[in-house]
Amino acid sequence: MVVEEKLTGRPLTSVLALVAVACLGLPGCRPSAGGQSTAQATRAAQAAPANQAAPAAPATPTAPAARNQPVFTFGVIADVQYADAMPQGNRYYRDSAEKLKACVAHLATLKPDFVVNLGDTVDRDLVSYDTVLPIFEQLPSPVYFVLGNHDHNMPLAQRPIVLKKLGLDRLGGGKGYYDFARDGWRLVVLNGYAISLGAVAPDARKAGEAILADLRQKGAPNAQSYNGAVGPDQRRWLDRTLANADDAREKTIVICHHPAYPVGDCTLLDHDEVRAVLEAHRSVVAYLCGHNHSGGYAIKDGIHYLTFMGMIETKDTAYALAEVYPDRLQVTGFGREQSRVLAISSPAASPVGARLR
Ligand SMILES: [Zn+2]
Repeated sequence: MVVEEKLTGRPLTSVLALVAVACLGLPGCRPSAGGQSTAQATRAAQAAPANQAAPAAPATPTAPAARNQPVFTFGVIADVQYADAMPQGNRYYRDSAEKLKACVAHLATLKPDFVVNLGDTVDRDLVSYDTVLPIFEQLPSPVYFVLGNHDHNMPLAQRPIVLKKLGLDRLGGGKGYYDFARDGWRLVVLNGYAISLGAVAPDARKAGEAILADLRQKGAPNAQSYNGAVGPDQRRWLDRTLANADDAREKTIVICHHPAYPVGDCTLLDHDEVRAVLEAHRSVVAYLCGHNHSGGYAIKDGIHYLTFMGMIETKDTAYALAEVYPDRLQVTGFGREQSRVLAISSPAASPVGARLR
């Protein structure tokens, strides 16, 4: 089901509780507002279109049972990067279709509330969507797509068609970034290639060229044509969206194709400015992304930065299920993807400006 507006609200299968996870032992773990009863009470109210604000969940004390019951769950897929092409290095373009089929069949049995596809759905051409999108449509859960650089790796005239194919023309302002609410949480999806060599608008391509030239002069590792910037307009929108989440005492997960931290050859061109926005808001718990196929994890200023491994790499697959609890994000990795427990150290219920570290 591709970017449907209804949310299913299925219970998590108990088998996931049996999957071993590697706890990082992060400090500051404590329960906060938004337990199971809140989730159930607000689930129907939050089945709103993804580009519309939903009512905030009322703050209620967390019952002990809520710590063992996820508030909601979602599947995570990154860098399918399908093409009907021979392998190159570790990239098995053609195999991605079969890997995705198996992943979708498995996720369907886990019944996540929704699935996030972190971008680079195809590698190099528009026609590849005709292979992968019907596979995503087999999912019973809504799928939220993120734009990646390879999603624009095609002639300029075809790029706007990608937005439509991914349902992104109907979300937010139709520019590839949007947000949606879920059980007292807000999920904020960024377009990390908005200002880039692959942008649609001429001025956005020109701005991308200028940023890249400046970064190259400084010897920055991320001065690469496959990286882009969120840009000032989208950062202002992000700031407003996160401020609203702060006021509503929501917790926020920010999602983008490109990493914002740590800095390397895959990081957003304006990662410093984006992180400054994130760090100014107490609601922000985590930043999830793909693009760097090796994956990785870091924490900075109380925000978890989690990069998911690319499905395209190697003959083995990689995807995950994320379970959102009041006090932690629990990620169960499949294939090469690692399992992790990320403690929530910046509860939305904390006083204004008191991001816990
Ligand atoms: Zn990418």
